[in-house]
Amino acid sequence: MKRIAIIGGGISGLSAAFALEQKRATGVPLEYTLFESSSRLGGVLLTERMDGCLIEAGPDSFLTEKPWAIDLCRQIGLADQLIGSNDAQRKTYILVQGKLVVIPDGLMFMVPTKVLPTIFSRLFSLRTKLLMAREWFHVASKAASDETVASFVERHYGPEIVDRLVDPLLSGIYGGAASELSVRAVLPRFAEMEANHGSLGRAMLSARDKTRQPPHDPPRPLFTSLKDGMQQLVDAVVARLSPAALRINTPVLEIRRGQADWFVSADAQSDTFDGVIVAVPTRAAAPLLRSCSPALRAELGGIHYSSSVTVTLGYDHNVRSSLPPAFGFLVPRSEAKRVLAATFVHNKFPYRARDDRALIRCFLGGTRDEEILQSSDEEILRIVREELRQIIGVGAEPLFTRVFKWKRAMAQYNVGHLERLERIERMRQELPGLALAGNGYRGIGVPDCVRSGTDAASQLLITLGLTPA
Ligand SMILES: Cc1cc2nc3c(=O)[nH]c(=O)nc-3n(C[C@H](O)[C@H](O)[C@H](O)COP(=O)(O)OP(=O)(O)OC[C@H]3O[C@@H](n4cnc5c(N)ncnc54)[C@H](O)[C@@H]3O)c2cc1C
Repeated sequence: MKRIAIIGGGISGLSAAFALEQKRATGVPLEYTLFESSSRLGGVLLTERMDGCLIEAGPDSFLTEKPWAIDLCRQIGLADQLIGSNDAQRKTYILVQGKLVVIPDGLMFMVPTKVLPTIFSRLFSLRTKLLMAREWFHVASKAASDETVASFVERHYGPEIVDRLVDPLLSGIYGGAASELSVRAVLPRFAEMEANHGSLGRAMLSARDKTRQPPHDPPRPLFTSLKDGMQQLVDAVVARLSPAALRINTPVLEIRRGQADWFVSADAQSDTFDGVIVAVPTRAAAPLLRSCSPALRAELGGIHYSSSVTVTLGYDHNVRSSLPPAFGFLVPRSEAKRVLAATFVHNKFPYRARDDRALIRCFLGGTRDEEILQSSDEEILRIVREELRQIIGVGAEPLFTRVFKWKRAMAQYNVGHLERLERIERMRQELPGLALAGNGYRGIGVPDCVRSGTDAASQLLITLGLTPA
């Protein structure tokens, strides 16, 4: 019987546990123990209900095009609980000089694929529109080394797109800045497009032609979620795990390597295992592995994390009818606001709000506003309400509010991240029986984390000789 420890009960660790549980159920001789420091499983996935509305504390959905979370949902019996975003209302606004301007139709992240909406858009100056036209003739080239997203995008479309579009989009996903994030790690598809085609516009159109769906297939929604929220995913995974294997309120203090085994130090729950899956943020993994490999500790500790705050406010039907039929808005740094983005939740997904309620979720923090975490909930609410009044004219008293603070939860894939991952992988290979999972490596989104947990479990099963390579 092989014994495996999983450290961390977020979606990465739970996915690893589920993969091991599936193997165990088919008779593979293994047992696993999952250690979670907090009093609940799920990590940043957390859903609450209030006044007939559903409030997401962390992620509200995942990208449909990345299949791993949807596959997991199907395997755990949630296929009929999956819901798609209301893409008919998929309009997003950007705050430009105090006014909301809609992102023009046909813009794929930052690449314009439709001429007329781009020409008539108020989002871009004439100079940027001319740069967009010139981009069509960009020649194929492969940058010798990694660069920031900001410098990559500037080379193609100039600085305005970085400020008005790319930076706000990235701060909504990573809480990070385009001037620090690595293009190869964060936008690998775009870096590849440049290498192969030169122009991102031409590359996008050629990719679209190749992947065009058959006309009778309904278009897939951009985002997928669950009827009862992201917590439903956590609860369904946990329900399929062996209860005796789950140790909440059990922080792991250190992981030490023995002759042929691993010692997991967790006070009264300390134990010895044949393999360990470390599925905590890399900043938490680093000190745990201090005695195994000081070099690995340094590399893991070198990956930065940003903090964020989500604030949900519920309003009555008057506010609901006053809001535009859109998913929400993004705020560029140049607008000097603390709110980075807001979602009109009642528009984005069904099953989220009563018909007579508006649900607005704001996102604050990120690498440039870590201080927000020091503010009290009251102060954060004061800031959010004042900025909502300025931006969308909502000055009404909310019916309810909820503030969630996430300290250093979002990994930042800064320039050089992929090279760092190669070094980490070499060091890990020198420690057989150790597997790493989580949002610090190859994708911060929920589907990427599901994949990282599943892959870590598969890797360990091979190392321990439980499945063929
Ligand atoms: C506010 C916010 C919004 C987001 N929105 C989206 C979104 O809409 N779509 C999307 O796809 N992604 C989104 N993400 C990203 C995504 O949710 C996360 O990257 C992912 O859920 C991380 O999962 P994880 O299991 O790797 O880490 P976590 O969820 O951080 O879990 C790690 C777990 O390890 C535990 N732990 C830490 N140290 C120890 C220790 N020493 N011993 C034992 N346990 C320990 C922690 O308590 C925690 O439970 C969002 C993230 C945040 C913070």
